[in-house]
Amino acid sequence: MTTLGDDLLRTVNKLQDLVFNTIGNDSLDLPQIVVVGSQSSGKSSVLENIVGRDFLPRGSGIVTRRPLILQLINIPPDDDSGSDRDEARIPHTAASVEEHAEWAEFHHLPGRKFRDFNQVRAEIENETARIAGNNKGINRQPINLKIFSPHVLNLTLVDLPGLTKVPIGDQPGDIEKQTRTLISEYIAKPNSIILAVSPANVDIVNSESLKLARYVDPLGRRTIGVLTKIDLMDHGTNAMDILSGRVYPLKLGFIGVVNRSQQDIQTNKPMSEALKSEAEFFRHHPAYRNMATRCGTHYLAKTLNTTLMAHIRDRLPDIKARLNTLMGQTQQELASYGSKQFSGKEHRGSLILQLMTRFATAFISSIDGTSSEISTKELCGGARIYYIFNSVFGNSLETIDPTHNLSVLDIRTAIRNSTGPRPSLFVPELAFDLLVKPQIKLLEIPSQRCVELVYEELIKICHTCGSTELSRFPKLQGKLIEVVSDLLRERLGPTSGYVESLISIQRAYINTNHPNFLGAAAAMSSVIASKNEKDKKASQAEEKRKREKRMKQIGMNGNATPEDEEAEQEDKSATLPVRKHPAIPSRSMSPAVARDRENGMPGAGGAAGAAKDSFLNYFFGKENERQLAGAPFLAPSGAAARHVSHSVEPSFAQSMRRLERGSFTEHRQPAYPPPMTDEYAQSEYGESPLFPEQNAEPVLTDREALETELIRRLISSYFNIVRETTADQVPKAVMHLLVNHSRDEVQNRLVSELYKEELFGELLYEDDGIKKEREKCEKLLATYKEAARIVGEVL
Ligand code: GDP
Ligand code: MG
Repeated sequence: MTTLGDDLLRTVNKLQDLVFNTIGNDSLDLPQIVVVGSQSSGKSSVLENIVGRDFLPRGSGIVTRRPLILQLINIPPDDDSGSDRDEARIPHTAASVEEHAEWAEFHHLPGRKFRDFNQVRAEIENETARIAGNNKGINRQPINLKIFSPHVLNLTLVDLPGLTKVPIGDQPGDIEKQTRTLISEYIAKPNSIILAVSPANVDIVNSESLKLARYVDPLGRRTIGVLTKIDLMDHGTNAMDILSGRVYPLKLGFIGVVNRSQQDIQTNKPMSEALKSEAEFFRHHPAYRNMATRCGTHYLAKTLNTTLMAHIRDRLPDIKARLNTLMGQTQQELASYGSKQFSGKEHRGSLILQLMTRFATAFISSIDGTSSEISTKELCGGARIYYIFNSVFGNSLETIDPTHNLSVLDIRTAIRNSTGPRPSLFVPELAFDLLVKPQIKLLEIPSQRCVELVYEELIKICHTCGSTELSRFPKLQGKLIEVVSDLLRERLGPTSGYVESLISIQRAYINTNHPNFLGAAAAMSSVIASKNEKDKKASQAEEKRKREKRMKQIGMNGNATPEDEEAEQEDKSATLPVRKHPAIPSRSMSPAVARDRENGMPGAGGAAGAAKDSFLNYFFGKENERQLAGAPFLAPSGAAARHVSHSVEPSFAQSMRRLERGSFTEHRQPAYPPPMTDEYAQSEYGESPLFPEQNAEPVLTDREALETELIRRLISSYFNIVRETTADQVPKAVMHLLVNHSRDEVQNRLVSELYKEELFGELLYEDDGIKKEREKCEKLLATYKEAARIVGEVL
């Protein structure tokens, strides 16, 4: 054992002290000796022998249930203080010094010196039970114990729970796995030397410890084999094959030991005596006599020491590198808490200004998408605003059905109301106006929602603008968020007001002259086209039925009745809704038709003489001057120009109605009341003439059906135009009035609200938790620096 070796070990122990005991973790992975073996193989006994003290709880059951990190510190014989261990001399195992020269200290009981090693054992038991419970469970939290003694070599040893196969007591079913994992964790560190304990009275091929050790150290470079219970081997057998390395190859070899037996323990055989008799055992044993100097606890301790030393020398460069990394990391962490000096007035002001500016910049860059901390998990900031505009807002506009809330009745009522007391000549644009305006209002809810969503997103953004440094000053952070939130809230009103106006503006003037507006003509022709399609089918079926009926009647009395003629006339008209017809009311016109003409369209009736009257004119009025907003609304397109005499329409409609109701024959049935009666009118409209809306079933005249459908199409067309404009304008307004405005204003606002000297003290109140973290970090850094200094001294 060289002085250099001692220096090394002292260094490591110092580091161990520093790192383990100041910081409380083993981030440095310092070299240590880890004892592994199956339960009752003698691990604790070996450790005790190395220490030369009887202090570990031992027995036949599972006794070691938490890792025990045992630091042996050699002290000069008369040094009782333990403070100056640099003067440690080469230790001697002979118990030549006073008992009181030795003591133990637990990390969990700082400052308390245990001189009675029975108490040390009791404390280990207590502390084990405290964390691992009273039953047989194990726990991974280590117990740290230091032993100061002139009799020990500087070593760091770890005692671990033994490997077991069968769970006992309260042990969980996976106790074997748990133990195995815990052991593997300790021995897997390249900085640990594995003391693989196997009892000599059990076949070495069954050694669990060697199996585990081989797993993490396949070349056997850092594994020392310890063969216990050599005294318990069968008579006539010995462990020479193993000890000489012929059975199982380990670079560091096998060392045989004889620990105290259970009986020795019970009879309190002193440790010194046990060591003596161990030495005797090897010296006199016929098989081991010749290698007695390479057997026993003393030799094991020396081997461990030198091995550990060599190992430390090997690891030192790594430790240095590791220290550097740790220092760098800690420095960085410390920097994230910000600088410590902010006590001076100038300092405080500039610190606040700095934090404020950083906050504002983070806010702006998050909106602009230039933030360095862009999340890959979810959309945030500007991208999220874009998403709100395009997907959320866009979709909610798209899904509005512009006429779904308009029933046929609503439209008809609007048409009727818009004509006032006077029956209309044409589909009144007033009805279109009346109906389309409330529909435009449907755009307002999604538009306002869009404003709110963007507002909420901005609020969210301002909550994420803090840094670690800022979180150190919770008051300041809170104030920054508050001021920005206020700013945003201020903008919410004007923005939402503007958006409201955007919709109102759209409602203020219905521009039917818009180039994209479908126009009455196009709408009409499309309505007619689809209606023709329907009518054709219906009338074909009717024609057939009628023919059959006539054939039957002819068969009965040989000539057609006037009613038949009338029916024929009507039915013909049903097949020709857009065909030219005699303009003058026919003789066969039903009284109901006459009433229709009087009530519904006398104006049209007045124009009936004009044979050129188109269906369109019929609906929209003849005078071109009546065109509401210009050509598109009225200009007859090629398709819409197919002329139909208005005078025909009522009878056509009537026949349609009859057709629909299946009451084709009612006119010819004398039992039915005459068509002119009120009841007839009532049945015509499906409602009481006095209370027009009381009946649920709307029965539309054909004209009404057409008008309704036409209006519906016009509303859809116009609504689409407004929808497009809204989808375009709302995001622009929100960007301008809310987003960009707050973005541009944020820095000024923060400064004017918060940069006030009287506020500095309050704003820079430091969060206790963060303060502690920072102080801890500072301490850590100091420790690492000290460790680096210690390591630096050695090399
Ligand atoms: P651990 O569970 O691996 O820590 O084993 P212990 O150190 O607690 O020892 C288990 C039992 O074996 C104890 O009763 C010891 O007295 C006994 N024992 C350990 N080593 C030896 C030895 O070398 N010789 C004899 N005779 N008994 C031993
Ligand atoms: Mg044990």
